[in-house]
Amino acid sequence: MLDFWWFTLALPLVQTDAVPTSGLDVVVGAWAKEAVTAAFGESSYAGNLRVMRKGPHLVVTGDLTLSCTVACDRCTAAIPLSLAPQVACVYSPISKVPERTEDDGAAGPAFPQDLPVAVEDAGEYDGVALDLADVVVESFEVERPARWLCGDAFPDDAQADSACAARWRALSGASEVAAPSPFAALAGWKPAES
Ligand SMILES: [Zn+2]
Repeated sequence: MLDFWWFTLALPLVQTDAVPTSGLDVVVGAWAKEAVTAAFGESSYAGNLRVMRKGPHLVVTGDLTLSCTVACDRCTAAIPLSLAPQVACVYSPISKVPERTEDDGAAGPAFPQDLPVAVEDAGEYDGVALDLADVVVESFEVERPARWLCGDAFPDDAQADSACAARWRALSGASEVAAPSPFAALAGWKPAES
């Protein structure tokens, strides 16, 4: 059975017609490497997805993990980032995306009704085949924090944040005798243990 759909679906493309109504379990493997590497560089990832069909709509749920290296948004040092998004998205054919009625008071596509599971996001696909590699990368992109700093990557390392600040000052060419930070008085401050 596994071999059957592997060759039939030629992952990462899932043919809509080949998705049984009972659903399809997919292990996130080597087929996603090219897309993940293009978006996040050399990284390790894993996950399990379940693809279900509801009429022309495909519902994808599952769990993903990613460990990669990114540049600190302040000092540009290479720091680790780990993501673990949960996937719950419905993909509708572009031509068959249900439109919201005027009564809804909003424009744009609405979620299809009577989906087998709750979804948090809606996307579009061509109605023929869904590229699961895109689903994987989009799920990671959505989970990625807007700002990721040394202090976020090493929350237990007291030196990480000050070293980050020092590198940032060097990068920005600030004087060694820059004005004291308004937060200097808080340098030794720690929240009371509750
Ligand atoms: Zn940094």
